[in-house]
Amino acid sequence: MELDNHAEDLASDLGIDKEEVKADLQNLVEYSVPIDEAKQSLRRKYGDGSSGGSSAPSSKEIAEITTDDSNVTVTGVVLTTGKRSIRYQGDDHVIVEGRLADESGVIDYTAWEDFGLSAGETITAGNAGVREWDGEPELNLGESTSLSFEADSLEVPYETGGDAQLADLQTGDRAVNVEVSVVDCERRTIDGRDGETEILSGVLGDESGRLPFTNWDPAPEIEDGGAVCIENAYVQEFRGVPEINVSEFSTVSTLEREIDVGADTTTMDVGTAVNTGGVYDVEVVGNVLAVREGSGLIQRCPECYRVIQKGQCRTHGDVDGIDDLRVKAILDDGTGAVTVVLDDELTEQVYDGTLEDALDQAREAMDQEVVADTIREHIVGREYRVRGHLSVDEYGANLDAESFAESEDDPTVRAGAFLEEVHP
Ligand SMILES: [Zn+2]
Repeated sequence: MELDNHAEDLASDLGIDKEEVKADLQNLVEYSVPIDEAKQSLRRKYGDGSSGGSSAPSSKEIAEITTDDSNVTVTGVVLTTGKRSIRYQGDDHVIVEGRLADESGVIDYTAWEDFGLSAGETITAGNAGVREWDGEPELNLGESTSLSFEADSLEVPYETGGDAQLADLQTGDRAVNVEVSVVDCERRTIDGRDGETEILSGVLGDESGRLPFTNWDPAPEIEDGGAVCIENAYVQEFRGVPEINVSEFSTVSTLEREIDVGADTTTMDVGTAVNTGGVYDVEVVGNVLAVREGSGLIQRCPECYRVIQKGQCRTHGDVDGIDDLRVKAILDDGTGAVTVVLDDELTEQVYDGTLEDALDQAREAMDQEVVADTIREHIVGREYRVRGHLSVDEYGANLDAESFAESEDDPTVRAGAFLEEVHP
């Protein structure tokens, strides 16, 4: 809708076809180019010389750069450089992304031209564009940027190179290097932007935790499993959690050392975990306050496997449901709450019976709610240590449990702390 208005503005300003402008705009916005900058770029493309870049940019320290600046000249040390291929205005384009630092601070940059940047070098970027990304300023090095390499290197209080632990990686990180073990890997055929293509996807782990990955250009070292060193990967959000992207520009090599996956995984407060917006591998400890509706003995659609009500699937209508067990439990530790989802196996554990037992119990009572009631009696009011994948969406936070065990900590101490936080 909004895009439509911008396209109309531009089309009438430049006297060109609206649909054409709109397609270009859409393309730019898809690659996270802010709308104002996208419009400016199109004005340049369609030859409106009247806007942008007339005044000479001032020289600035990195910490002084704000999102109000449009162009700056800055000297700094390249901390990281990572290549990535994107599709831009219909063409594949290789961009270089990373971080630049001086004594005052660090800023992310995107280079739209190949300036031959490498980590550790001191550069001066004249007339670098400033754009806003997630509320923060970011440098754009492009056609109009004059880039020079300085002979005297700047001393900065930051490390060069992108070595990282999985637990520290966040969506948007570029040029990262990790030493990981391939926990899980499968080859899949997907419908890529250039038709069918084969990729690898799965889970990587290091001492700090685990993260899902996609390897767009299958590396045999990853497919073989074991420990690998991956250089120049980037992190993007996929299904609510950060995902490591290993591209054609990444380097993958076999590692000789053993990696003890998850040995140092940290336990988080529920509140902290929820505030991250999604964590692939996290452990929380809290009290089960309630077992939600849709728990216990349930039926799933044989086509789409979603939970159905009274034999009706929202997509497939009247179906012959498949019986299954699951639990959706509200877990709270005083800092926040999540819905913990237990699969059939974990549900059998907390129910202390099999699917057959549940069907028998329901038949006898002529009510399948009795199964959820039994589970409620077993777990509500108790404290559990849960590990799994946390995702956050508009309906709240869900923790897909991989393990669900009663906490060994002294429950009275925790219950006291919990009540204190609820009733301060
Ligand atoms: Zn269905």
